[in-house]
Amino acid sequence: MLSYDLHIHSCLSPCADDDMTPGNIVGMASLIGLDLVALTDHNSCKNCPAFLKQAEQFSLRAIPGMELTTAEEVHVLCYFGSLRDAMAFDGYVERHLLPIANQPEIFGNQLLCGGDDSVVGTVENLLISATDISFFELGALLKDYHGFMVPAHVDKRSNSLLSQLGFVPEGCGFSCFEVHDPTKEAGLREKFPPLKSCGVLCSSDAHRLDGLHEREYFLGEDWMELFLKGTE
Ligand SMILES: [Zn+2]
Ligand SMILES: [Zn+2]
Repeated sequence: MLSYDLHIHSCLSPCADDDMTPGNIVGMASLIGLDLVALTDHNSCKNCPAFLKQAEQFSLRAIPGMELTTAEEVHVLCYFGSLRDAMAFDGYVERHLLPIANQPEIFGNQLLCGGDDSVVGTVENLLISATDISFFELGALLKDYHGFMVPAHVDKRSNSLLSQLGFVPEGCGFSCFEVHDPTKEAGLREKFPPLKSCGVLCSSDAHRLDGLHEREYFLGEDWMELFLKGTE
């Protein structure tokens, strides 16, 4: 079994600490003994190239990802089988973000890192605003990028599928959901039938280095199946 943490923000997310560089994240994950990690910055994959490069140096399995904010302000984790697909999707999302400049002194820095983990620049457009991509079109859209979606922290009172839509739509292209509090899983499945057949992930949503999960949650070697089931 693989211990995982598949919801981690780097210093590119304005709300994350500046020392959440890709190198520091994989270094910490490696210290903890995690087997599988994903980088999921708000509306951007631009630190994924550095993240994958750093992960390779630590011999850590890493997935390029993004936490997309839909037009309905639902947070959805998007994962990709390749960096190429992730960066192509990043380009699409960039064109669908609200054009609002980041104000670092209010929202925080959006730091871009190079392969050697040094800061090489910043992203000017605010990444924590919404996109004009609807939750209902996302599943089909991601197919073009061989990506898959996992509604994030569905049990949270803000920016979740349930807080924003109030229900779980069927046939929206996902076969797995994320809970923040794992004790809520059974109740959610009971209340929302479309979740019954779904897999579940519990990741940290870490914004700081000491926020990563310990070796607490595990996936089988066939973890990819969990995501791909819903995209057929
Ligand atoms: Zn979120
Ligand atoms: Zn998050």
